Amino acid sequence: MTVAEIGTIVGQEEQEILALVHNFAETVMRPVGIELDKLSDPSDVIKADSPLWHVFERYSELGIDMFELSNSGLPPNRVALLNAMISEELGWGDSGLAISLEVSIFPKALAMMSGNPELIEQFGSGHAVGCWAITEPDHGSDVIFFGGQLKDMPGKPNCIAKKVGDVLEINGQKAAWVSNGTIAKNAALFCAVDLGEGICGMGGILVDLSQQGVTRGAPLDKIGQRALNQGEIYFENVRVPLRNMVISPDLGSFGSDVGLSMANAGMGATFVGVSRAAFELAVSYAKERIQKGVPIIEHQSVKSRLFQMYRKMEASRHLARQAVVNNGMGAPDLKMSIASKVTATQSAFEVASEAIQIYGGNGLAKAYPVEKLMRDARASMIEDGCNEVLGMMAAEKF
Ligand SMILES: Cc1cc2nc3c(=O)[nH]c(=O)nc-3n(C[C@H](O)[C@H](O)[C@H](O)COP(=O)(O)OP(=O)(O)OC[C@H]3O[C@@H](n4cnc5c(N)ncnc54)[C@H](O)[C@@H]3O)c2cc1C
Repeated sequence: MTVAEIGTIVGQEEQEILALVHNFAETVMRPVGIELDKLSDPSDVIKADSPLWHVFERYSELGIDMFELSNSGLPPNRVALLNAMISEELGWGDSGLAISLEVSIFPKALAMMSGNPELIEQFGSGHAVGCWAITEPDHGSDVIFFGGQLKDMPGKPNCIAKKVGDVLEINGQKAAWVSNGTIAKNAALFCAVDLGEGICGMGGILVDLSQQGVTRGAPLDKIGQRALNQGEIYFENVRVPLRNMVISPDLGSFGSDVGLSMANAGMGATFVGVSRAAFELAVSYAKERIQKGVPIIEHQSVKSRLFQMYRKMEASRHLARQAVVNNGMGAPDLKMSIASKVTATQSAFEVASEAIQIYGGNGLAKAYPVEKLMRDARASMIEDGCNEVLGMMAAEKF
């Protein structure tokens, strides 16, 4: 969908914002995403002179995080829809960078949820890089799946926050997969909580990662979304005030449902952008590439394959917008958010793979842009929960 087409269903203010975001995605995110993807050492992605920092700076200048938009005077349903459209634009620019920018808001979201002015001041103002630290080396799907019923999870948690007097003392580690784990200033830490009588569930805790006792792992080297830095976070006797536990274990699965719902709905909208990028590239290549004397788009099978790509992209887009609006307008809608994430990421992978097929041999070459999209999309089917595990979780809500 072009920005002009979006304009047929949203107002002038949204169009202006989307035009700015599209420009940012095209002129900043795309080239930087490609540059960072090519770096063989993932440590270079976060070094002091990396263009990654330029992306964060330019993004914060746009002033488009969901809380800033909430203060724009637009009604909540239009803000929610706009959020979905913005995520699509960011994903269209570069999905690894999009996730890096989007996950950054998690600590701020938790602080806003608390309603506590001190937490809002510390974690909710400004544009500090944030992360959502939930998975652990020994518990990936487990921690997503058992979230609120952590007591029933097989095996010992790798990270525990224990109440000691009027503070929580955090020890252990989170997985190498924490997005922004190597650079985040603040964490929305979801981990096992012991209030004095053993582990009683999972809590959502705000942690300033610049404090003593926090150390990081090396940036992870992976197949796709290479612009997205990831790495372990280690905690050794890290103390935070009890009030930093915004989501307490007695809320059961509510806390993990909120986090997962937000993350999955955002993923859905973002990966519509990846489908769109692959689809647009495939259409334009099919119009240029001549075989048997005509552009390949004239061949029926190519037309038909392009239609299947279009169909998947549009279906993902409508589900993604619905999921983001549902979350933005009421209680977290985990089933719908999961349906959106699974559909959009699976579709993005299939659409990007088909784009490679339409490019023929060139699709496999690093000099052309589509192989990167397929690698980026491949990672998304595991990110924020393996799709098959998420499906089982959604089915439990039936
Ligand atoms: C790009 C990316 C970004 C990420 N970002 C974050 C982040 O910001 N924060 C964070 O904390 N984590 C993050 N993760 C981690 C992600 O959530 C986990 O990788 C994911 O939940 C799967 O966990 P795992 O890798 O340990 O796989 P495992 O849980 O070991 O799963 C391995 C296989 O077993 C299957 N399986 C596991 N359990 C079951 C079950 N009960 N029933 C049936 N099959 C099962 C899975 O489907 C999978 O095929 C990210 C991951 C990726 C790839």
